Amino acid sequence: MAIAISTEHQVKNELSLVAQREYVALTSSGSSALIVALKASNIAPGSEVIMPAICCPAVLFAIQMAGFTPVLSDVSITTFCSTLADIEAQVSDKTKAVIAVHSYGIACDIKAISEYCKSKQLLLIEDACLAVGAITNNQPLGSFGDISIYSFGYDKTLALNYGGAIFTNNAALFSAIEATLNVNDFFCYQPNDGNIQRLKGALDELGDFTAKRINNVLFCHQQLQTEHISKPTIDVDQPLWRYPLIINGDRERFLAKADAKNILITSHYKSLEILKTGTTLPQAKYISDHVINIFVRPETPQQQIEDTVHFINEFAQ
Ligand SMILES: *Cc1c(COP(=O)(O)O)cnc(C)c1O
Repeated sequence: MAIAISTEHQVKNELSLVAQREYVALTSSGSSALIVALKASNIAPGSEVIMPAICCPAVLFAIQMAGFTPVLSDVSITTFCSTLADIEAQVSDKTKAVIAVHSYGIACDIKAISEYCKSKQLLLIEDACLAVGAITNNQPLGSFGDISIYSFGYDKTLALNYGGAIFTNNAALFSAIEATLNVNDFFCYQPNDGNIQRLKGALDELGDFTAKRINNVLFCHQQLQTEHISKPTIDVDQPLWRYPLIINGDRERFLAKADAKNILITSHYKSLEILKTGTTLPQAKYISDHVINIFVRPETPQQQIEDTVHFINEFAQ
């Protein structure tokens, strides 16, 4: 057990270096991290929490589990993330927190969002679940929120099938986070079964993994031709989760063709409007109906990426 405990300390130290944060706690998942973050913050039950309509549905469920009301903001057609204007459009008297998500690992305009939240005294939770190891303007994603979170779950940037992390620089907030974890075993990280060793191993290789992702993203970004598609607006040094792009034609026909040729393409995310009827967010809807994603994992074979890009470039209406 002594070894497990010391590995856990090393992991926390490494994580606090990666995200440049003072305090870090491990959780059982990214969803747990979000729920704990919301529960530990001193916001009134029933308050509204703003989140983007295009991201993992777990974010919406986490807000509801924590006892708050999710309010969806629209997203940019070029960055696939909510801009400050998208968020501002949803702020009401009941808004007490904003969850800023780096969807697909693309950095959202986190600096402007952070300044705005400070000026309005809104709690900012930065969701960097798909951006572990990403850096923007010399600052890691995960370093901007009052609280920031990572996931190490199934199919994430660091896909270890288990775990999450929660970060802050605020000592009082961290005490509340620890107190929340102490009474909710379900949210706590279990370092047994080799979990912590796997996490340590992945963090030791994070630099290499990130470099490979960046290379794969760069390849897609440079080689894709924009006749039938729209590429995202990204900094070229972003280690994305998957490379998202917009098919301006008939996506279903495109996906069927890809499938017939054994080209592996996914179509995340659907707009969460389908879960919150009554909202109309035109850009989220457009992305929902037209987005596709290319795998850019460190272990994705170069040939697969080349074949996928070639297929997309060849696709004609
Ligand atoms: C997956 C994901 C989560 C939830 O993480 P889990 O570890 O699967 O609970 C939260 N936010 C985003 C953006 C995600 O992609």
